[in-house]
Amino acid sequence: MNQKNESIKTIAVLCSGGDSPGMNCAIRAVVRTALGEGLKVYGIRRGYAGLLEGSFVEMDASSVGNIIQHGGTILQTSRCPEFHEAETRKEAFHILKRKKIDGLIVIGGNGSYNGAYQLAQEHGLPVVGIPGTIDNDIEGTDYTVGFDTAVQTAVEAVDKIRDTAHSHARTFVVEVMGRKSPAIALHVGVCTGAENIVFPSEDVDYDQISADIRRGLKRGKSSSIIICAEGEEPGLSYKIQEKLKESSGIDAHVCILGHIQRGGNPSAIDRFLASRMGFVAVKAMLEGNTPVATAYVKGEVVSIPLENSLKKKDDYLPHFVELARSLSI
Ligand code: ADP
Repeated sequence: MNQKNESIKTIAVLCSGGDSPGMNCAIRAVVRTALGEGLKVYGIRRGYAGLLEGSFVEMDASSVGNIIQHGGTILQTSRCPEFHEAETRKEAFHILKRKKIDGLIVIGGNGSYNGAYQLAQEHGLPVVGIPGTIDNDIEGTDYTVGFDTAVQTAVEAVDKIRDTAHSHARTFVVEVMGRKSPAIALHVGVCTGAENIVFPSEDVDYDQISADIRRGLKRGKSSSIIICAEGEEPGLSYKIQEKLKESSGIDAHVCILGHIQRGGNPSAIDRFLASRMGFVAVKAMLEGNTPVATAYVKGEVVSIPLENSLKKKDDYLPHFVELARSLSI
């Protein structure tokens, strides 16, 4: 390990943007690693909005006791549109300075990373990001904290729907989260043996979907499940339902899983990932090469330049798409 950066004596941690299961594990790991390093640690409530309100709470080892198993975040989170303004970020920096906070750890998605990056660029604040989002859509990391749990939650729900679909010989369109990210839909589709997966911002091929359903029925399948990512505009699953009825007389049922995918106890994989990332985040802060983000790369948790994680992953994992299509015949 590189030499410890002695100028870091007090750090703060906040969650920002959408919550994800495992954020608490990351907070716990940050707080306990920092305390072990002799640092003072503040939690900031409600993300950047709480920072601007001065909503700080000093954390000790027991303040993060008994939280590892809980979804959501004990610090709460928020969206704070004012943070897009340079003047607001300047104010935030001065609030941190008045509190003698030398470095900030931000748990969130790309938006939250962008806010942290600007603080670093504009004011030289040492920042470290931890990827906390169910969408697994942050560049530079193979996995984000919360994705595994969200997929597991959706898979369990679809398994239940499949029981009914099978018993009544029905078609279901199940809408999962992912306004811009195909990751949840792809994984849930593969793990539930879905007959079709509809990705966000993809033109929906209604003829292909109904041809696939008819082909399945012909070879004796008693049910069909179409997994559809929610996409930018609400209601896509109802549109698919309508088109299937119109074009092929197929009576599909719609189930929108919605926010149940965000909550719930984090899986062991998310707990382990978040714990490792919280630990690495504090070490990286002390090593001083900020701004960085923690990332899971080929089985290792590492810190990478924050700049490499500011964008959304835009690959459609084509080989997995081929996998899904090959297995759903
Ligand atoms: P996520 O972090 O999950 O991607 P959002 O995109 O909603 O969620 O971003 C969370 C918050 O991060 C925003 O409400 C805002 O406070 C801050 N943020 C987002 N984008 C920027 C940006 N370009 N510059 C500064 N702050 C930003």
